[in-house]
Amino acid sequence: MSFTLAIVGRPNVGKSTLFNRLVGKRLALVDDQPGVTRDLREGEGRLGDLNFTVIDTAGLEDATDDSLPGRMRRLTERAVDMADVCLFLVDARTGITPTDEIFAEILRKRADHVLLAANKAEGRTGEAGALEAWGLGLGEPIALSAEHGEGLSDLYAALLPLS
Ligand code: GDP
Ligand code: MG
Repeated sequence: MSFTLAIVGRPNVGKSTLFNRLVGKRLALVDDQPGVTRDLREGEGRLGDLNFTVIDTAGLEDATDDSLPGRMRRLTERAVDMADVCLFLVDARTGITPTDEIFAEILRKRADHVLLAANKAEGRTGEAGALEAWGLGLGEPIALSAEHGEGLSDLYAALLPLS
C-alpha cells in the first residue's frame, strides 16, 4: 500500500531540499487538482523499495521572521490533512525555536502519525541539535542531512511500518 508523506516545519529547515532528494525529477505539479494551490508541491517519492507521495509546503519561502503567521499555519494544516504521515523537520544547527514548538503543538493535535527529524545534522554541531529535538516530546528524532544524503536509512526504517 502506498502512502502520502507531508514534509512540514518552519522556513529554512530544509524541507524543499529533502523533497527534492526524495522526489528527484519525478515532480508532479498539482495546480489542476481541486483545493490544492501551488503553495503545496506534490511529487512521487522513492526511498529504497518504498514508493509514496510527498508533499512539500513550498509556499513558505517568503516568511522571514520567526513567528507563525496564519498563512503558514493554514498551509501546514492543509498538508497535514492530505497526509497519512507527517515528517516534521527541525534544524539541528539552530536548535529548537518557539516556532518549532508551535508546529509541534499543531502536529500533536492534528496529525495521526508524526515522524520528527533533525535536519542539517551532519557533523558534531548537528548531533547536539538532534539531541535537543527530544525535548519536543514527539519521540526519537531522526538525524538527517538532506543536503548530504545522510540518515536516509533511518528515515526508511521509520517509514517502513507505515507502507
Ligand atoms: P525550506 O525553507 O524548509 O524548504 O528549506 P530549504 O530546503 O530551502 O533549505 C534552506 C537552506 O538550508 C538552504 O540553504 C539549504 O541548502 C540548506 N540545507 C538544507 N538541507 C541541509 C543539510 O542537510 N545541511 C545543511 N548544512 N544545510 C542544509
Ligand atoms: Mg521550501
